[in-house]
Amino acid sequence: MTIEFEFTPEQAALRETVRAFAQKEIAPVVAEIDETESFPAATVARMQAEGYFGVPIPEEYGGLGLGKIGYCILAEELGRVDASHVAIVAAHTSLGAAPILYYGTDEQKRRWLTPASQGKKLLAFSLTEPGSGSDSGALKTSAVPKGDSWVLNGTKLYVTNGKEADTVLVMAANDVKKGPHGGITAFLVDKGTPGFRVGRCEKKMGLHGTSTAELILENVEVGPETVLGGIGMGFRAAMTALDVGRVSLGAASLGGMQAALQEALSFSQNRTQFGLPISEYEAIQFKLADIEMHIEALRYLVYHSAAHQDAMGHDPTKWSRGDREKKTREAAVVKCLGSEWAAEAIDEALQIHGGLGYIRGTPIERAYRDARISEIFEGTNEIQRVVIARDLIARGA
Ligand SMILES: Cc1cc2nc3c(=O)[nH]c(=O)nc-3n(C[C@H](O)[C@H](O)[C@H](O)COP(=O)(O)OP(=O)(O)OC[C@H]3O[C@@H](n4cnc5c(N)ncnc54)[C@H](O)[C@@H]3O)c2cc1C
Repeated sequence: MTIEFEFTPEQAALRETVRAFAQKEIAPVVAEIDETESFPAATVARMQAEGYFGVPIPEEYGGLGLGKIGYCILAEELGRVDASHVAIVAAHTSLGAAPILYYGTDEQKRRWLTPASQGKKLLAFSLTEPGSGSDSGALKTSAVPKGDSWVLNGTKLYVTNGKEADTVLVMAANDVKKGPHGGITAFLVDKGTPGFRVGRCEKKMGLHGTSTAELILENVEVGPETVLGGIGMGFRAAMTALDVGRVSLGAASLGGMQAALQEALSFSQNRTQFGLPISEYEAIQFKLADIEMHIEALRYLVYHSAAHQDAMGHDPTKWSRGDREKKTREAAVVKCLGSEWAAEAIDEALQIHGGLGYIRGTPIERAYRDARISEIFEGTNEIQRVVIARDLIARGA
């Protein structure tokens, strides 16, 4: 097992440019986005122009070709500044674009992946329904054949980018008797397709820059060219997407933890109580040290699993069962630990701020609200533990 690696010069350069971009373009608007609960269309457009919506996608499909490692660098650096921007990029890249890269035909890659990676189209991913969240294989949206075409009917819930996306990857049941593997198909559904519309957009505790939309499908007729990966392959495509997403979520948590540490460190060195900066007190120092330890540990976990995904390549037919299982296990570990360590770090950083940490509009208060979702979406942390435990029992190790 190799765990030492160097970032390539291109990946190192990406970190520098994204860091500078995030400070210059995103940091000044974060508070306003949170306050007004609005999608950051201007900064998203600038990020699309920079190629940030195609970082792990090969250059032949319009991306930057910097792999999952490059993608995690992007998520980490954006995560330092604003969780909403990461969520918008991640819903598009890990959940929308990666499945097309893995399972799409040449024609689908040309039609959907290339413009998405070039930042000309925004993607979303739609698995969750009112009656099926963790048990996503029990989804009810139906796909009924009509000649060569398919007719989709159902309601999807909580779709990130659902309001703004040009194309949504919609998982629908083609045959409930077959269960998730074989019975669920993924369709690339363009906005504007008759019968496909955005319903309610949720008000949320955090991630105020993202839309979280209900999508309604009423007799939506789509052609055979919209089927991704073949009939019955939708669940596998969705789970593969989530493996990518969970690692990038860990990277975003890593960025969020570093920002929280920075805030806490700076505050503690400037806040004097009982005649000393509070950073002089061991109770405060131990909190800072605990955050730093988790940052160090998470950095290894994130980039180790990203490197493993890069080494596997993007042709699922070439993946061994062992590699596939390892990828899923690693992604679950990174997502679960990353989100919990980030929640803990931000909570402690808030505590270090005393009363100020509870005041609306401070960066640490916003970070506290934004971070909570990471323990829930892309599979709750209970589900990550189910994934890890099942794998452990199957391997008998
Ligand atoms: C802001 C936001 C953005 C989202 N973005 C998207 C998106 O872009 N696309 C998309 O498809 N979905 C998205 N989701 C949905 C999200 O992935 C689900 O909310 C999540 O998977 C949990 O599903 P649920 O809400 O139905 O909870 P439930 O599945 O009903 O779970 C409720 C509780 O029961 C626990 N539980 C359930 N089953 C088990 C079990 N077997 N063992 C132990 N505990 C269990 C859960 O962990 C949880 O604590 C988003 C959600 C939010 C809030």
